[in-house]
Amino acid sequence: MKELLVATGNKGKLRELQLLLQGSVERLLSLADFPELPAVEEDGKTFVENAIKKARSAAMATGLPVLADDSGLVVDFLDGRPGVHSARFAGAAATDAENNALLLRELAGVPVDLRGAAFRCFIALCLPDGACETFDGELRGIILETPRGTEGFGYDPLFLVPEYGKTLAELPLATKNRISHRGKALLSLKQFLAGH
Ligand code: IMP
Repeated sequence: MKELLVATGNKGKLRELQLLLQGSVERLLSLADFPELPAVEEDGKTFVENAIKKARSAAMATGLPVLADDSGLVVDFLDGRPGVHSARFAGAAATDAENNALLLRELAGVPVDLRGAAFRCFIALCLPDGACETFDGELRGIILETPRGTEGFGYDPLFLVPEYGKTLAELPLATKNRISHRGKALLSLKQFLAGH
């Protein structure tokens, strides 16, 4: 694919996507290249609804193929929260640190065997005519009681990947990309692109 617009303003995600899409896309554009595009309200009830909404509106507005993802943390003990509200768990303009602090408060005293969680990612690839394909991926882990590591973003310092004995914030980006919800969803996207 020659040009692909990634509908995200999140620099951490864009860095991950750049690495993951190397070789599949000649030129990756981001929302920073289209400052005139109106912001899309992520008001869907599901990740997939939000991903399609973001990708479709940008594809129709720019005439480019657009990739958008919606992802978040689904915590078993919290019946799936924060889910689609992961970015603004602690409030509309919450920082990662504030979201992590709230998560720790909500899980205070919860034993380790009940601290299971998953990162989920849904990706939508939409064309200017409004047609979309979707892809998804999941990574399961355990929410720690204290943060560890400095890599990544969001809830990474609290998310232990049991197979590695490390949080996502302690793993190099290349490793995270191989095992992550976004990495898995992008792998199916890459396979799709290779077949088209
Ligand atoms: P989105 O940008 O609407 O997809 O919201 C995703 C939110 O979920 C982010 O702001 C993070 O809080 C969280 N999240 C999604 N993916 C990751 C990840 O790979 N690591 C840590 N947090 C993530």
